[in-house]
Amino acid sequence: MVTTHNLGFPRIGAKRELKFALEAYWKGTSSQEALLALGAQLRERHWAQQADLDWVPVGDFSLYDQVLDMSFTLGNLPARVRDLGGDELDNYFRVARGRSAPRQGNAVGVQAGEMTKWFNTNYHYIVPEFDADTVFSLNAGRLLAQVQEAKALGGSAKPVLIGPVTYLWLGKALDGSEKLDLLECLLPVYRALLNRLAEEGVEWVQMDEPVLVTEMDSQWRHALNLAYHDLKSCPVKLLLATYFDRLQENLHLAGTLPVAGLHLDAINARDEVFPLLGLLPSHKVLSLGVVDGRNVWKTDLNATLDWLEPVHDQLGKRLWVAPSCSLLHVPVDLSNEHRLDPEVRDWMAFAVQKLEEVRVLAKALNEGRHAVRDELDDNQAAITARRTSPRVNNPRVKAALAGMDERLGRRQSPHAQRVVKQAAVLDLPVFPTTTIGSFPQTAEIRQARAQFKRGELDAEAYKRAMRLEIERCVREQEALGLDVLVHGEAERNDMVEYFGEQLHGYAISQSGWVQSYGSRCVKPPILFGDVSRPRAMTLEWIGYAQSLTPKPMKGMLTGPVTMLNWSFVRDDQPRSLTCRQLALAIREEVLDLEKAGIRIIQIDEAALREGLPLRKSEWAAYLDWAVEAFRVSANSVRDETQIHTHMCYSEFNDIIESIADMDADVITIETSRSNMELLEAFEDFKYPNDIGPGVYDIHSPNIPTQEAIEQLMQRAQQRIPTDRLWVNPDCGLKTRQWYEVIPALRNMVAAARSLRERLLEKSLAGPAGVAPNCSQYGV
Ligand code: GLN
Ligand code: ZN
Repeated sequence: MVTTHNLGFPRIGAKRELKFALEAYWKGTSSQEALLALGAQLRERHWAQQADLDWVPVGDFSLYDQVLDMSFTLGNLPARVRDLGGDELDNYFRVARGRSAPRQGNAVGVQAGEMTKWFNTNYHYIVPEFDADTVFSLNAGRLLAQVQEAKALGGSAKPVLIGPVTYLWLGKALDGSEKLDLLECLLPVYRALLNRLAEEGVEWVQMDEPVLVTEMDSQWRHALNLAYHDLKSCPVKLLLATYFDRLQENLHLAGTLPVAGLHLDAINARDEVFPLLGLLPSHKVLSLGVVDGRNVWKTDLNATLDWLEPVHDQLGKRLWVAPSCSLLHVPVDLSNEHRLDPEVRDWMAFAVQKLEEVRVLAKALNEGRHAVRDELDDNQAAITARRTSPRVNNPRVKAALAGMDERLGRRQSPHAQRVVKQAAVLDLPVFPTTTIGSFPQTAEIRQARAQFKRGELDAEAYKRAMRLEIERCVREQEALGLDVLVHGEAERNDMVEYFGEQLHGYAISQSGWVQSYGSRCVKPPILFGDVSRPRAMTLEWIGYAQSLTPKPMKGMLTGPVTMLNWSFVRDDQPRSLTCRQLALAIREEVLDLEKAGIRIIQIDEAALREGLPLRKSEWAAYLDWAVEAFRVSANSVRDETQIHTHMCYSEFNDIIESIADMDADVITIETSRSNMELLEAFEDFKYPNDIGPGVYDIHSPNIPTQEAIEQLMQRAQQRIPTDRLWVNPDCGLKTRQWYEVIPALRNMVAAARSLRERLLEKSLAGPAGVAPNCSQYGV
């Protein structure tokens, strides 16, 4: 008999119950008891939804983050929270978000733990903190209680832990010490934990070691050997879980570590299944992740069985089947989607449906395909419908792609020549000021959008409301004296969904939420077919905004790479191809804006860096097609049209050449918090085009002073020639309030003016002064 299991279930709740419970608790409008009770209720519901499996995951539920849970289980709390009042949950939220809940006077603020992306997903975890003196101690209460809960409900509980090596790998040694030196004192705590679990009657424990899909040096490989040789004496069976990518050079290591079972992501590493069979010791279980835990499509069950049956013949009951990774990364339940186009909906599977697929596959293996004939037939019908649907295949898009010319991604002239022509059209001062696009999303804006969606506001009234907001935004910017204006993005709920809603080839779910971090969720639009643009998407708003002012109005678009990386995308063609289609659609919008007289167009690529593969050796290939897609979207414009791009980070050291290759006339980036240190990349590599290093940290309620902004810009001047610098915030302003934005931007404009004056004084001071190179914009 084949064994079925799951690596993790989404915990946020089909209706985002956990989000709302957390936020109410943090606000102080609900009690800790209510929060904990909701947690227990969700776990119970989720185990019930997994009841058909032979093993259900336990410990995958978390009130904030599973890595933070692991830190608490291992007694690894940052010293700064240890002596504060309150209970363990207060401390937990202090590390998570810098504050406990506002009760019993415990609202002491501390620095929150750093957050970073979980491998190549859009989930963010709290980075464990270490130093040379870190000690670990077992705090198994949470996990043991959940094991008991699951058992009381009659489930076969398989606790899920982050393995010791991955745990160290994920963390940060704040004092620069060697993290791996901690392994020796970490292992006894893992041993104690496994022993306690054994006492609870636990048979299998899932040890997540996704570090195995990354490039590891010999020390890390050695650490894995050491760890699992050490843990093998524990009286539980370990299922070593890897996911998200291929094992490659770590295949042999993963296959031969002394554990009872190995889980392989057979969606991303199908080609490693057979090599693994060859080296797996004869007692070892092989768990295969055959249902994609990262995407929303139905599995082709027959095609899967075609290759899985021979594996089953070989392994017999040593074969387990599961989703490829934790289902944390997909929405909960498709049956809650009532507005999705029924045809497209029939091609999809969310977490609950994916587990049903696992069940059907196992039954087919155990009893033969005839035992699940109806399920297989239905599945086949959906797979065939999707493959052949005219909704997926658009010959016009395919023809456009085939006819793409090499020159599509090339500007007419090099930047140096474009600069002169753009200066003539734009007539901007040195240190031109601008913003990144969005302005505060007020309650009224959100209400108008919601009412329009619900049909309570007709198109005309909605348009009036948005135009009013745009006008307000333009007038505010004029009053502030900004040089390049924006329309404010009032009409956009989300920078990706907004375009997904308007492009053909996209579907938008109603409640396809996926946890991003803590209580925050995202609802990625679903790209199912060839992408095309039926009509202009932004022209109406941007054209109106430009009509209100003689100042240049920036057209605002989301770039193809960001659209791709923040959507669920089709799995029936390479991502690079899908990205090209997006690029062609956005290109049409760019050209429409240009034709309408918009002189500056910004194409945001906030998620370009996120798409980097886990292994550095694969970066170049990704960057090649990603940069090319951006170029296709942007670079067909005339020399006079200025292209901006924006990225919400500035860790560019390792990809700076690709960023330069994009050939945007101006790039705005995040740098204010790092005191411009992140501009180093631009020093070592002579970045040729204009740069706007952010001077206003929009993530903070603090309002930067004029002096602080001037100082930041002066630091930037040390690295970047004055005539190539712009003055702007770190990112969009939509999460801030108008009362914060106005003084902050006022200071920013004043700082730019003062910098200009100083430049003028210097140039008047004659040859001793630094000769400014102001040919571009004039002073
Ligand atoms: N133009 C977008 C805005 O201003 C950019 C957002 C982002 O980079 N995340 O909101
Ligand atoms: Zn940004």
